[in-house]
Order: sequence, then C-alpha cells, then structure tokens
Amino acid sequence: MDLFDAKGVTGMLTGKVAIVSGGSRGIGRAIVLELARNGADIVFNYLSNRDKAESLCVEARSLGKKCMAYEVDITEYEKVKTMVDETYAEYGRVDIVVNNAGITRDGALATMPLENWSQVINTNLTGAFNLSRAVIIPMMKQRAGTIINISSISGVYGNARQTNYSAAKAGLIGFTKSLAKEVASYGIRVNAIAPGFIETDMTGDLQEAMIKAIPAKRTGKAEEVAALVSFLCSDSGKYMIGDVIEISGGLVI
Ligand code: NDP
Repeated sequence: MDLFDAKGVTGMLTGKVAIVSGGSRGIGRAIVLELARNGADIVFNYLSNRDKAESLCVEARSLGKKCMAYEVDITEYEKVKTMVDETYAEYGRVDIVVNNAGITRDGALATMPLENWSQVINTNLTGAFNLSRAVIIPMMKQRAGTIINISSISGVYGNARQTNYSAAKAGLIGFTKSLAKEVASYGIRVNAIAPGFIETDMTGDLQEAMIKAIPAKRTGKAEEVAALVSFLCSDSGKYMIGDVIEISGGLVI
C-alpha cells in the first residue's frame, strides 16, 4: 500500500486533530508541519507573531489539512479554554496535544528578578497545565488521546543560570509522569521529550565552544524533534506511557 498521496501526506494520522502550543516558530512550527504531513488537522496558538502564524496555516492547508491559528497567550486559562472549545465545535474532537510553548529568561539566581522566574514558570509549566486541563475531560470521554510535553535536558540534568527554566522543565516531567498514571486507563498516553540544543530563535546565540561539546558536532534540527512527536502520536508509539525521551546529539550521555 502506498502510504503517501500526491502532496506527500502520509495517512498515519488521518482523521486525527492536533493542538500544538507555540506553533508559529521553531520546534512548534516543525511539529505542526510534521503532524499535518502525516494527515492530522491542526490548531495552534502563538503569542504575537501573526505573520509567521498565518504563513504556517497557508503551508499546512497546502498539504490538504485544516488549520486554525489562535493568538492566545498560553498563560491565560480562559482564553486557552475558549480555543479548545472552538476546536471541538469546529473539528468535533482532539486526539493530540503538544505542550510546546516555552520561553527562557536566563540569569544567575542571585540577581534573578521575580518576574523572570514567574514568566518562565507560567509559560512553560502553567501553560501546559492550562491546555491539558482544558482538553482532558473530553479526551477522557473519548477514551483515547495523546499528550506530549516538550521539556528539556535542563529539566533532567539542570543548567547554571537556568534555575527558572530547569524548574519549569523538571516540573513538566513530574506533570507528565503523574498525568500518565492518572489517565492511562482512559486510553490517553502522556509522554515528554527532553531536547538538547535545537537550532531555533531560542538558541540563536549559541557559542561555537558549546557546539563542540556536542558529540554530534552540531545542533539538532526542529524537524528531528518533530519526528519524535509523530512517532509518539502514532500506533508505533502506543507502548510509550509516562516516558521522557532525550534527544541531544549525545550531549548528556
Ligand atoms: P522559539 O522561541 O523558537 O518559539 C517559541 C514559540 O512559543 C513561538 O511560537 C512563540 O510564539 C510561542 N510562545 C512563547 N510564549 C508564548 C505564550 N505565552 N503563549 C503562546 N505562545 C507562546 O522556541 P523553540 O522552538 O526553541 O522551543 C520550543 C519548545 O522547546 C520550548 O518549550 C522550549 O523550552 C523547548 N526546548 C527548546 C530547545 C532548543 O534548543 N531550542 C531545547 C530544549 C527544549 P511567538 O512566535 O508569537 O512569539
């Protein structure tokens, strides 16, 4: 059987609906395109980058998939809930949730303003709570679904000048494992991905010396993270529950 149609869309996720937070750029953008290419209809949100969001929707639709983009701050529960309600009204279901929206506000704890702590926790950790909370009841009723949380190796191993970010990303791992245990019996699989250095706007100022420390001798590509997401969403990943998959080019061996 030919898995690809004329547009290069595989049938692996046909009939599925995915919500991706922080889809406009970087890893989120690659995830949106990967899921669309595999047949899923898409909803994503972003903070402010409307031009990039619109161009992404055009690209996803050119793959023959539906796509809606919401300028919704992931830290605002009521707005996230409205986005989810509208997704159910329009598409009738949600099968895949990727909690990807994230920011960094790096700096030593000794001088870190409370605001930098709060912004990072609210976006990276509470954001994942907000979207997951908004979908979990209908997903439980559906008795099927998958939630993927984009954590970080900083959340597994720690990183100097990232106490806020590491705390949020480690929190996301605890959230993943607890929710996985809570909803596995409803047919919902919850997993996390912990990337190393991936080439996006977030890592734009990465030093040459840091790249040399990566055994792969290069940064990762957003598409390489997106490929893991689609594996976790697919039937091939159906024995993955509460797992944390690292993808770091060997950085944390
Ligand atoms: P980018 O900075 O390239 O993109 C961040 C995305 O999140 C954008 O789409 C942005 O929207 C969106 N976003 C940020 N804040 C909010 C908010 N409050 N509400 C809604 N959307 C928001 O980041 P990356 O692609 O590099 O990172 C994606 C995820 O992967 C993050 O969770 C990050 O922590 C994680 N990660 C990244 C690594 C890396 O090396 N790049 C390594 C490990 C983990 P807009 O375009 O409107 O600003």
